[in-house]
Amino acid sequence: YGDANQRIDYVFKVVLIGDSAVGKSQILARFARNEFSLDSKSTIGVEFQTRTLVIDHKTVKAQIWDTAGQERYRAVTSAYYRGAVGAMLVYDITKRQTFDHIPRWLEELRNHADKNIVIILTGNKCDLENQRDVPTEDAKEFAEKEGLFFLETSALEATNVETAFITVLTEIYNIVN
Ligand code: GDP
Ligand code: MG
Repeated sequence: YGDANQRIDYVFKVVLIGDSAVGKSQILARFARNEFSLDSKSTIGVEFQTRTLVIDHKTVKAQIWDTAGQERYRAVTSAYYRGAVGAMLVYDITKRQTFDHIPRWLEELRNHADKNIVIILTGNKCDLENQRDVPTEDAKEFAEKEGLFFLETSALEATNVETAFITVLTEIYNIVN
């Protein structure tokens, strides 16, 4: 993941949003550092983490922003969304309420972010299949209706985390090129 002295062709800001405890910080830890922690404390002071990857032979620095416990409705400020070209909208597949709140988060995004922002709906904790509370079909249907990408992920097992970010970053890359 080292990117010292590397020529950067693009920097893309992507924001993580969704209810508290759905796994946003662990998704970011998995993507940025390939780490996971089961008793994650809320990250203090860290606004974003970066990871540099290559898309279409170009060096893309993904700057992924994480809410520092500001997930209460409307507590996330417009500064958070400023300049964002991508968003990962996260719910927990074992907690129906976190999925039911997705339309609110989408409205927040549509009110504060650029209208061309690329959005992926992400159902996290898919390793907990036996506790599933949100059918995949419900989320898929919602995503199709709203024009969002959709994937289920597990930060714990590293399932689809990479794919989810690469999906968003590649779409952004295609839009700017
Ligand atoms: P945030 O509030 O959205 O940032 O959520 P966190 O990343 O802090 O995660 C909340 C809790 O869920 C922590 O105990 C994590 O270890 C746990 N968690 C996060 N992702 C997963 C996952 O994919 N699977 C499981 N089983 N637990 C997860
Ligand atoms: Mg967090």
